[in-house]
Amino acid sequence: RQPHEFCMIVSEAQMQLLNRIRIVLVNTSHPGNIGATARAMANMGLTKLVLVQPLEYPSMQATARAAGADDILDDAELFPSLAKAVADCSHVYGTTARLRSITWPEYTPQELAEQVRESDGDQDIALVFGRERSGLTNEELDLCQALVHIPVDDRHSSLNLASAVMVVAFSIRSALLVAKTREPIIGKKHASPVATSEQIQFYFNALDTLLNKISFYKGNATRVMRKLRRLYYKAEPSQEDVRILLGTISAINAELEKGEKKS
Ligand code: SAH
Repeated sequence: RQPHEFCMIVSEAQMQLLNRIRIVLVNTSHPGNIGATARAMANMGLTKLVLVQPLEYPSMQATARAAGADDILDDAELFPSLAKAVADCSHVYGTTARLRSITWPEYTPQELAEQVRESDGDQDIALVFGRERSGLTNEELDLCQALVHIPVDDRHSSLNLASAVMVVAFSIRSALLVAKTREPIIGKKHASPVATSEQIQFYFNALDTLLNKISFYKGNATRVMRKLRRLYYKAEPSQEDVRILLGTISAINAELEKGEKKS
């Protein structure tokens, strides 16, 4: 498939960026929404659809609603968990219909689009969409660096899943079109590439184990760990940063073991 056949107005570099964006649908109930999402993606020049435990898939309803965007459905990848679906992504954004009690950084679709436009590196960017009934769980949001909220009218705040995908995808496309006349920002590489979700989650697990071991938590492990996650996400650590962080934990563990042996 040649995505630029239906989006001639974006440049080659921007198309590469669009191809690095994956739309992740978590535990979708209605196959029609999966089809409508594929259609919205095709409209906006996005190609990569990822499904985490869809309730019914493949499905005639999905194909019918895709209205010709069958190739996106055919290429859709299935994963057993969100962590696995975003493991190799450098940026993971969770979309949410309501404000959460946890104070996660939150963006409008336009702010997200600016960040995506300015992102560098070769890794994928994941935009995660939740269940029709209940959205994303807190554990799933823990895998996201930031949240995206579409500022809909309070009196009618429920937005259809595929409509939410369309709004977010259109914001990104709009940002790219505006930027067309500017120098492409894409390509200014980090000295070390941005860490992937899997690498960061691995560090969080190691940190959590260590903090447990030294009895750092006083019964509020989840809350404290969430604050720490937020702090690290803000820093956008590179792969080298994560290696150093893991090194500090190994060194601390080694010292702790020495102490244990002595006593
Ligand atoms: N009652 C659920 C609504 C889920 S709607 C809840 O309160 O979370 C299904 C999905 O559509 C959401 O998980 C989210 O990914 C997306 N969505 C719906 N409305 C949205 C909005 N205003 N902003 C961003 N995403 C939205």
